[in-house]
Amino acid sequence: MRWGLIGASTIAAEHMIGAIRASGGHIASVMSSSSNRAASYAAKHGIDNGVTDLAAVLDGVDAVYISTTNEKHLPQAMAAIEAGKHVLCEKPLAMNVADAVSMVKAAEAAGVTFGTNHHLRNAGSHLAVRELIETGRIGEVLSVRVFHAVHLPPHLQGWRIDNPDAGGGVIPDITVHDADTVRFHLGEDPLDVVAMKTSRGMGQGVEDSAMSVWTMPSGVMVQSHESFTHPHAGSGIEVHGTKGSIFARNVMTQQPTGSVTLRFDGGEQEVEYSDHNLYERAVGLFAKACVGEGRPAADGVDGVKSLAVAAAVAEAAETGRRTAVDYGGI
Ligand code: NDP
Repeated sequence: MRWGLIGASTIAAEHMIGAIRASGGHIASVMSSSSNRAASYAAKHGIDNGVTDLAAVLDGVDAVYISTTNEKHLPQAMAAIEAGKHVLCEKPLAMNVADAVSMVKAAEAAGVTFGTNHHLRNAGSHLAVRELIETGRIGEVLSVRVFHAVHLPPHLQGWRIDNPDAGGGVIPDITVHDADTVRFHLGEDPLDVVAMKTSRGMGQGVEDSAMSVWTMPSGVMVQSHESFTHPHAGSGIEVHGTKGSIFARNVMTQQPTGSVTLRFDGGEQEVEYSDHNLYERAVGLFAKACVGEGRPAADGVDGVKSLAVAAAVAEAAETGRRTAVDYGGI
């Protein structure tokens, strides 16, 4: 499969170029807004062409991976879909739910595959957690607690901490991942949320921490904490049920690391899981979906729904009101 990269980004450099190549894909071109950067990025990563316009990156490829800043995803995805290309797009899909819905509907109408790059649901640890839930090992699920307060590394402290117009802020950045992960584990969509946010030291004009509580149709309660400012908090997810509890520590990460512990009446068990690369699994499933085999790990609807939850958290934190999640009719 021939790929074009839209965006000369850090995530592509650190994870996705390798993952695309591991899936057998060939990266034909990378697009940047700067010709110098396009050329230097292409040279550094062994990509055939560095280009600055969309028509050039779309030329002769089967699929694109979009990892520009968030406000650019909509027009770039629409152009790729119009040109008949499969699209793997970074989260959040867009700046608002309506735009994300229009992207996903356009892809459906054009008959191209659309994926959202939610990496966590590809992790062996999370696949193990979901299996424990699905096979009834903790009984009926009562509550979920998500711990995703990290310290944003200095090289990522750009638009994320000071540019709301590019989609900065911890809610668009991390709450979307947590929403996707909880939906993945529970197989249901949050109904409404309450939330608070703050900015204490890193965010300039955007929030750098958020806490929220979500209700689920089944009655499960979810508590979620995201931050850019916590160097030593560690990450994790706990799922508590009537017969047991799952403690997955340090698993809200890009690496196949962390531990999964199952606690039940009379004991505790360390759960084994696969340590495959998260991004390679995501790209592999997306590439197969492009040739009609299966579906992406997270598709466009998943991307819309994670954004919808994050948008509700943002609104609830802004207004102080309990806010229904609006999935934009999808
Ligand atoms: P970056 O800031 O690295 O890249 C975004 C854009 O910034 C690039 O497209 C590029 O513009 C420009 N840029 C990047 N580095 C430089 C530089 N050194 N000098 C000048 N311009 C630069 O963002 P990320 O890679 O962190 O994030 C990109 C997208 O991916 C976002 O939507 C984000 O939410 C998502 N993301 C997803 C992750 C996941 O695990 N799913 C993890 C991290 C990010 P141009 O292309 O015009 O050169």
